[in-house]
Amino acid sequence: MALDAGTGLRQLGNQLLREGRPSPVHLLLSHTHWDHVLGLPFFGPLWGKENHIFVYPLANEAQERFQRNIFDDIHFPVSVNDIPARMEFVRPDAPTWRIGSATVSRIMLNHPGGAQGFRIDDDGGTSLAYITDNELRAGKALVTVEELARFADDVDVLIHDSQYLMSDMPHKHGWGHSVVDDVLNLGVLAEPKQLVLFHHDPDRDDDALDAIGKRSQNWILEHAKGTQVVVASEGLALDVTGK
Ligand SMILES: [Zn+2]
Ligand SMILES: [Zn+2]
Repeated sequence: MALDAGTGLRQLGNQLLREGRPSPVHLLLSHTHWDHVLGLPFFGPLWGKENHIFVYPLANEAQERFQRNIFDDIHFPVSVNDIPARMEFVRPDAPTWRIGSATVSRIMLNHPGGAQGFRIDDDGGTSLAYITDNELRAGKALVTVEELARFADDVDVLIHDSQYLMSDMPHKHGWGHSVVDDVLNLGVLAEPKQLVLFHHDPDRDDDALDAIGKRSQNWILEHAKGTQVVVASEGLALDVTGK
């Protein structure tokens, strides 16, 4: 199972090919903004005709967007119809469905153009929630902080959009991303074992992210003792141990 198709998808594809298990792949897409789909053309399993890739999109028009915006002759030399792998667009009717040993749930998020978050509960007892792109303090909220806290309640890993600082507000209000302080408050309500700050502002350098991580960890120690803050970075591997 893969969450979104950013540039990290290339490394994942290479790893799956090395391990001899490139299929089936279940790709859960939060939405089709470029930073969430640009890795797809460079995903190794796409280029093997025996592979089967299930894509769980938000909307029916996702397939058309793929054709128009990624696999067209302006942006990539191979058209969507000439991709060797079988790419199947799935749009579950129910808010919850099964993939292998896991139950997957989704929730609509506060983001311009729409986005969906996912929760994955494995039968073995491990759980993860992936919530991006999402603005926790949105003016007209599709989903509230309390609803998201219930959705992600008690997961092992909660990955949440944490792009902004209070100093970015109010200028970036309505842009569809969250302030770190609001994510920490969500962490206190949901009490994940690991709270992963994700979707950093592209202008933030490593020192700035280290400072955010340190400040967040200190704060969360006082408010949710069982939660550890992790600042996401490229190639990061997390151990999900379960209950
Ligand atoms: Zn987006
Ligand atoms: Zn994004």
